[in-house]
Amino acid sequence: MVNSVQYDVIIIGAGAAGLMCAAIAGQRGRSVLVLDHANKAGKKILMSGGGRCNFTNYYVEPDRYLCRNPHFSKSALSRYTQWDFIGLVEKHGIPYHEKQLGELFCDNKSSDILDMLLNECEQGGVTVQLSTSVESIVDNTEKDDAATSWQYQLMTTQEGLRCQYECESLVIATGGLSIPTLGATGFGYQIAEQFNLKTYATRAGLVPFTITNQLKSVCTELSGSSCDVTMECNNQSFRGNMLFTHRGLSGPVVLQISSYWQAGDTVRVNLLPDIDLAQVLRETQHERPKLSLKKFIAQWLTQKMSEQLVEFFLSALFKQGIPQTLAELNAEQMDLIAAQFNAWQLTPSGTEGYRTAEVTLGGIDTDEVSSKTMMAKNQQGLYFIGEVLDVTGHLGGFNFQWAWASGWAAAQYV
Ligand SMILES: Cc1cc2nc3c(=O)[nH]c(=O)nc-3n(C[C@H](O)[C@H](O)[C@H](O)COP(=O)(O)OP(=O)(O)OC[C@H]3O[C@@H](n4cnc5c(N)ncnc54)[C@H](O)[C@@H]3O)c2cc1C
Repeated sequence: MVNSVQYDVIIIGAGAAGLMCAAIAGQRGRSVLVLDHANKAGKKILMSGGGRCNFTNYYVEPDRYLCRNPHFSKSALSRYTQWDFIGLVEKHGIPYHEKQLGELFCDNKSSDILDMLLNECEQGGVTVQLSTSVESIVDNTEKDDAATSWQYQLMTTQEGLRCQYECESLVIATGGLSIPTLGATGFGYQIAEQFNLKTYATRAGLVPFTITNQLKSVCTELSGSSCDVTMECNNQSFRGNMLFTHRGLSGPVVLQISSYWQAGDTVRVNLLPDIDLAQVLRETQHERPKLSLKKFIAQWLTQKMSEQLVEFFLSALFKQGIPQTLAELNAEQMDLIAAQFNAWQLTPSGTEGYRTAEVTLGGIDTDEVSSKTMMAKNQQGLYFIGEVLDVTGHLGGFNFQWAWASGWAAAQYV
């Protein structure tokens, strides 16, 4: 018979949510073990925010999250707020700054946040065990001959060594599927399935678009150039930087809208969000009829962008030859040109997928979980926190805030 090591709480996943939950539960006096198959804790924290971790946002609101149940995140987010996390960051003397739109970043490195969490875990007497695979999870209460009163039994391997653990509370904090090279797996969804919890189909979110049609060569030519645009899709609209890449389109505004985009959808892009091009065209035609059409449009774009985009749009509109001056345009043509720039209808071929996505949309149905405790409603002692749940934030520190808040909420009850 294999000997078991017992803990009050076992948390699978030493990422943002798992470490937060572990620290708080440990500081409540619970014995806590965190298991992770990766060789390092918090790999996504280290990679986040371009190495400076956008750890929260001044303006956290439930409407910054996508979830089938828009009310689910409210409870945890209101009990552990951005101000609580900022307080923790300040307690540890970590310098930070607001970049834009309330986004808070470390002045130095993301490792400041990871070190802070590991330090908090240490204060709570938490054991973090890495390079460990969980092979099986058994609910002892379902066994007729259970020789123990601990609810969950886990069989693990670490560098070939098998070990059995038992715990009263089991927390699944294994995150989503994005960036497998950082340790992402679908483990949390498998556990949900094992315990008959419903999950929603997953897809990549906060992810660049790929373009394979005739626009591809424009994207390649403009690769590295960016412009301020608004993007709309499925009744959502964002404004920010759009970046052309060798594969298609990226940048903050593209990542944001990608979470609302489904395969085949068209995205509406306003390349000149502060200009009503139809009106300005009419006025300028009246005042300066001899002005060159290309020069007129180029005044708002960089030279490289106007060379590529103006040519691309105008040659598509005017198959018989592009008009030289504004005087040559009739009212209908002016509206068509304006629509190209103010309401460009773009159909991405796809997204770059989990390989580069910052988050995973979908996941465990939040109706299966208590919004107060994060415990599964029909499975005593089994908790789900962080991105594994069907809660996905906008870009800007909202995903970490969900990890902190849901981890903290579960830590009060495990
Ligand atoms: C490149 C990048 C940059 C990002 N930048 C930001 C940012 O600046 N701000 C922001 O708010 N959000 C950012 N995010 C999103 C954010 O990182 C996640 O939403 C957040 O980390 C989710 O926390 P989590 O604890 O649920 O999952 P994770 O932090 O992903 O942690 C999950 C842990 O579970 C472990 N695990 C997985 N499967 C198993 C298994 N089978 N067995 C054992 N362990 C397992 C993993 O190794 C990992 O350590 C970024 C994401 C990426 C990919």
